[in-house]
Amino acid sequence: MVDKLAVIDFDDTLVRTNTKIIVYWKKKQKEFNTNQIKDAYKFAERRDAEIDYSEFAKPITRQNIKAINYSLISKIRQDDVLILTARGEGETIKNLFKQHFKLNFDVIALKDIYDDKKDGLLIAQRKSEELKLYLKQKSYKFINVYDDQLSNLAKIKGALPQVNIHFVKF
Ligand SMILES: [Mg+2]
Repeated sequence: MVDKLAVIDFDDTLVRTNTKIIVYWKKKQKEFNTNQIKDAYKFAERRDAEIDYSEFAKPITRQNIKAINYSLISKIRQDDVLILTARGEGETIKNLFKQHFKLNFDVIALKDIYDDKKDGLLIAQRKSEELKLYLKQKSYKFINVYDDQLSNLAKIKGALPQVNIHFVKF
């Protein structure tokens, strides 16, 4: 068994996609990118608006991908990989990387995380809980966690001090 595990966030860490967060108020709407979740939340709160996260629940296709973080992929090529994502559906992500890159990734999708209007703190909490459960059945010596959100990394490090955290921007 490989003794190194890479835990990778999907949106804006491994890939950039055309997925949008949409805020609706008074017959108006404004779109935010996936890395602007906190901005969308603040914007909506000021206007008492609705936030639509439903694009996160849709299966991902090659056409949804705008850019791929190849430098991260080459860095983790020898490791076991777990994609830990707040998207609603993990099977298509798994299949996409198998088909296009011959990479076998485990995927944990948090599902239904966006049912409540939240600013991302719930995501950080759930990510750390899911990772803790996953690691209970494993015996990796080195665990590297990659994410573009500092709040996720901080929460995970707090719950699992043994992991190494890496802030990713690409
Ligand atoms: Mg992300």
